[in-house]
Amino acid sequence: LTRPAYVTRFAPSPTGLLHKGHAFSALTALEAARAAGGRLVLRIEDIDTQRCRPQYEAAIYEDLAWLGIEWTPPVVRQTERQAHYLAALDALKVQGLLYRCFKTRKEVLEAIASAPHGPSEVFRGAALPTAEEAALVAAGEPFAWRLAMAEAVGRAGPLSFVEHGAGPAGERGVIAVDAGAAGDVVLARKDVGVAYHLAAVVDDAFQGVTEVVRGCDLFEAAHVQRLLQALLELAAPDYRHHRLILGRDGKRLAKRDRAETLKALRERGVKPSDLRAELGF
Ligand code: GLU
Repeated sequence: LTRPAYVTRFAPSPTGLLHKGHAFSALTALEAARAAGGRLVLRIEDIDTQRCRPQYEAAIYEDLAWLGIEWTPPVVRQTERQAHYLAALDALKVQGLLYRCFKTRKEVLEAIASAPHGPSEVFRGAALPTAEEAALVAAGEPFAWRLAMAEAVGRAGPLSFVEHGAGPAGERGVIAVDAGAAGDVVLARKDVGVAYHLAAVVDDAFQGVTEVVRGCDLFEAAHVQRLLQALLELAAPDYRHHRLILGRDGKRLAKRDRAETLKALRERGVKPSDLRAELGF
């Protein structure tokens, strides 16, 4: 068996300007690709059309050019891949692993707070009786498609993924998947369309990603994503979660911290080589 050539990706969401944390992520991915003699690909995660803006996508290309980050074309833009996500959603529906959830955000929070085994942080529910569901659908009530997590976990059986970086608690090596902890995750919504986890696994497979490099704030997401890969029979990449870059206040950077954006650094005359050195490259 020959190993597929190394491919990793940088997958920013154009919901704001990129900051130092994104630079660290992109540089880590580029370095991993170079070290493995492989490729870096780019994906614009613009599925949340309510929050994404074209000027932020334009800024991503400017920032990457400034940082000297080259990727192998083509760029994948999630807004152009809806049909593939819907096909994946259908594949899960056919397996009976999705149900319609009509609860509002408030109702979901209430359900979580009054969960039978004490309050948990995640939602677990079930499909409504057929007639009740049909009536709500006919009335045009909005709903989300949720993964019936307990069934999905049972169907997939034991799974693991390989972590080459580290999770928030230093997890590394072969990690036993515990997707159940995430509860019945939403995989599609009326307003936002398909959700992050589903789009990410479909695209990682489409782009031939062999190792996902990203911040350790997404370590838990790997559990859910590994499960979806198994259910959708997609190739499973390895993972390399990296540390997060903190701001001067010791908190992780967010897109609202304007002063730390790459654009602001550039405008203050910071050189890309200075930033690379500051970030340890
Ligand atoms: N689009 C996500 C972000 O910008 C990254 C998702 C991922 O790397 O899986 O935070």
